[in-house]
Parts: sequence; C-alpha cells; structure tokens
Amino acid sequence: MNRTVDVLVVGAGPAGLAAATRLAAAGAGRVEVLERERAAGGVPRHCARPGFGADALGGPLDGPAYARRAVRAALRAGATVRTGVSATGWAGPLTLDLTAPSGLERVRARAVVLATGARERPRSARLVPGSRPAGVLTSGELQRLTAPSRRWREPVGKRAVVVGGEPVARNAVRTLRAAGVEVVAVVAEGRVRRAAFGPVPVLVGTAVAELHGRGRLTGVTVQAGDGRTATLRCDTVVFTGDWIPDHELARAYGLPLVPGTRGPATDGAFRTAEPGVFAVGNLLHGGEPAPVAAAEGRAAADAVLALLDGRPWPTRGVPVETAGPLRWVTPGLLGPVSVPLLVRPERRLVRPLLTVGQDGVVLRRERLDGTLAPWRSVRLPPRWSSGVDLAGGPVVVGAEE
Ligand SMILES: Cc1cc2nc3c(=O)[nH]c(=O)nc-3n(C[C@H](O)[C@H](O)[C@H](O)COP(=O)(O)OP(=O)(O)OC[C@H]3O[C@@H](n4cnc5c(N)ncnc54)[C@H](O)[C@@H]3O)c2cc1C
Repeated sequence: MNRTVDVLVVGAGPAGLAAATRLAAAGAGRVEVLERERAAGGVPRHCARPGFGADALGGPLDGPAYARRAVRAALRAGATVRTGVSATGWAGPLTLDLTAPSGLERVRARAVVLATGARERPRSARLVPGSRPAGVLTSGELQRLTAPSRRWREPVGKRAVVVGGEPVARNAVRTLRAAGVEVVAVVAEGRVRRAAFGPVPVLVGTAVAELHGRGRLTGVTVQAGDGRTATLRCDTVVFTGDWIPDHELARAYGLPLVPGTRGPATDGAFRTAEPGVFAVGNLLHGGEPAPVAAAEGRAAADAVLALLDGRPWPTRGVPVETAGPLRWVTPGLLGPVSVPLLVRPERRLVRPLLTVGQDGVVLRRERLDGTLAPWRSVRLPPRWSSGVDLAGGPVVVGAEE
C-alpha cells in the first residue's frame, strides 16, 4: 500500500508525541506517529514510579500516567497514532517502508521526524565474557518485566547484582527490592554516592569481569582496580546506563552521526543533514529525562512548520566538538541562530572552567558554580554559542577543573 502524509513521526515516546502534538495543533495537515510496540508512550510506559513531574493537582506523576497524558494530547490535537507499526527502512528520500499488522506499507511524507529513542548497551556490547545464561538484563528490560501493565509478570529472580552508579542504577535497585529480590551488591566502575543505595553494599572502582551459569545465571566475577577478583552468587544481573541511541534508521539513510553520542548530527533546530528529515529526543544523546526529550520534540515542530511553509533548508552548519573531560555536546552543528548547548561530562567535575572556541580563538570562558556529574547534562544558554564564524573551523567546547 502506498500513501502520502504531511509529517511522519517515527517513535511514539515523549519526543515523538510532543512533536506530533504541536504539529497537529498548528495545522500541519496529516500527522502520523508510528510505534512498533503494541502501545504508545515510549519508555515511561514501563516506569511505574514517580519521577515524571507533577499531575494537574501537583501530585507526583509516574511513567505510565505521563505516557497516557502524552498520547491523549497527541490524539486530541488531531495526530494519528499507530501502534504495532515498525519503520523498517527507506525506499527513497522522505519515503519509509513500514511493517504493520495489516501488511507492508510504503509511506511518503513532506517531513520525517525520527524520535526512535535510545537503549542501554546490553552485556554483549559491553564485551563481558562468559556463557549466555538467562537473568542478564538491562534496567529497561527489568522495568518491562516488572511493569504493572503486564498481564503475566515474569519472576525476576531472587538475588541480583546491579552494574552502574547513576540514578538509573538506583531505580533498578528500588525496582528489584520492590519485586522482593535481594540486591547483593551494586558494582560501579566510577565514583558513586554510596548513601544513595541505602543498605546495599556498593563496590566502587570495580567491574564485572565474567558471568557464570548455564541456563540460568549462577554468579558474576567482579574485578577491582588493583586486579583482585571475587565471585558474587546471584541469579540476576542488571546492567544500567551506558546509552546507545536507536539510530538504525538514521544510519540506514546515511545520516552523519556525532562521534560522542552516536546520534544523528543536527543543527539547533533538529534538522539533520538530509532535507526534510529531523531527529529529536534520546535518539540524539541517550539518557536524558523525559521532559528534555519532549521539549526537543516541541522545538523541532517549529522548524518542521517552517519547512512545510516552503522555507528553504539551511546550508550545513559548523560542526561542534568537545575537548577535555567532556563526553558529548549537542547540537552537533551550529547555524546563524544562537542555540543552547547540552553538554555531558565524562566524569565528576567540581566548579569546572568551560570554554567555547573556534580556530584557536576563545569565544566564551566561564567557571560554572557547583559540580557536574557524569549522569547529568548541563544546559548552556544560547549566549554560549554566539559569535561563531559560519565560514570557520569546528567549534570546540572544552572543560578543565
Ligand atoms: C529505566 C529508566 C528509567 C527512567 N526514569 C525516568 C524518570 O524517572 N524521569 C524521567 O523524566 N525520565 C526517565 N527516564 C528517561 C525517559 O524514559 C526518556 O527520557 C524518554 O523516554 C525519552 O523519550 P524519547 O521519545 O526520546 O524515546 P523513547 O521513550 O525511547 O521512545 C522511542 C519510541 O520509538 C519507538 N521506535 C523505535 N524505533 C522504531 C521504529 N523503527 N518504528 C517504530 N517505532 C520505533 C520505540 O518503541 C519507543 O517507544 C528513564 C529511562 C529508563 C530507561
């Protein structure tokens, strides 16, 4: 079946739904959102605990309620939300091949918004050796297994080890304990606030060296920085954090990716290198909170509307890179309009001195108050990206303590 729509949004998480809501409300025409899972709402759908802002009465909002609210808003604005539909590849510019319950489809759009999110790197991608037993999860998989919306919840196990020290590791510990699972230890390579994990022992400066067990996990060998090893008996291990954008569609189109994030390079208006194709949300940078992803979806809608209005696609911007202990910066390209920069440190930085430079000239230099943590990004307001020479070399964002 061949069809045409005005805007095709791939991914019905917070970012895709927010983009679709604004576009449909602004009269962008036929706005269709595709979701490969059987329900729309993205990752928050599986996070059944507060942490997603507040409801209309100021009460804490959990993930499923946040997801339901986002889906309702998109439908009310007039967008079409289709579930169980996967975008599998490109048939040409702005034309996607889909697999739907009713069969194969080919849909052409005037604009495509990629909002396919991110996932945590599984054990295989982290190159942890050992056999391949059951009981090895990411925290996203753990949330899915224990989601109250599941008709048949699967038993997780009895004794678990959590790998990682970021807030998502704390959530995994809470989820496991709420499911009646004993958490034997948290294993973290970097520095960690032990108190955040309550009574659970935290092994700092330690990595998982091997998994044991056939059929079901029976234990993990951990190795400290000094080389000493120990084997912890457990039937479940949960790998947390370490995000990789779901960038398969972006790569299939040949969109350039940013080395630091592995998400598609966009300018400050979420335009990729391909005219008519936008990218938003965790696809751009991995583990940011849902409101950040939704704000990007809303912001991208303005640029989509400009395109539908016939405004030209700008020529390529100046690439942005990081130097020093910074993991990544977005957007990956800067144009004539100053935009905020989202920066993620590689490690904990106390009152860091941040700089923005181009061709050896420092454009901005400011010491930030407070501490930057590797699990939290810092948003630098638009003044940080002003004064860039569009004909110059890469813009470099650096940090030192
Ligand atoms: C364990 C965990 C706990 C979290 N806790 C919090 C929290 O407490 N508070 C908070 O604010 N944030 C939290 N987050 C982060 C939050 O979930 C994300 O910020 C948010 O979901 C990102 O939105 P997104 O739309 O970019 O991506 P996603 O929510 O990942 O949505 C992307 C959607 O695209 C779909 N998709 C992908 N590829 C295709 C395709 N080819 N065709 C069709 N559909 C496709 C996916 O199925 C998915 O539903 C948590 C995340 C995790 C993993």
